[in-house]
Amino acid sequence: MVAELNIITEWLPEQMEPGSIFVLENAGEVGDHDDPYWAVLSCPECGTLGLITRRQMRGVVPVICGSSTCPAQFVIIDEQVVPRRPN
Ligand SMILES: [Zn+2]
Repeated sequence: MVAELNIITEWLPEQMEPGSIFVLENAGEVGDHDDPYWAVLSCPECGTLGLITRRQMRGVVPVICGSSTCPAQFVIIDEQVVPRRPN
């Protein structure tokens, strides 16, 4: 698993390698009012793209990969990927 997130500033899907993160232009305006969508993250393990919320971006809520074949669970802390053991 990639240990550090790579923030990209331009939406170029082909540059979304594992661990890449792109902050949405309308971050905070869509999704749940208390925990809106914030960015698109490429899973640091398998590269599957998924939306993450503000709380996930701040490390409050763990990120679980959306791929059914990928077991990745991690917390984002200061743009570092901290693996998390399933409960
Ligand atoms: Zn994954």
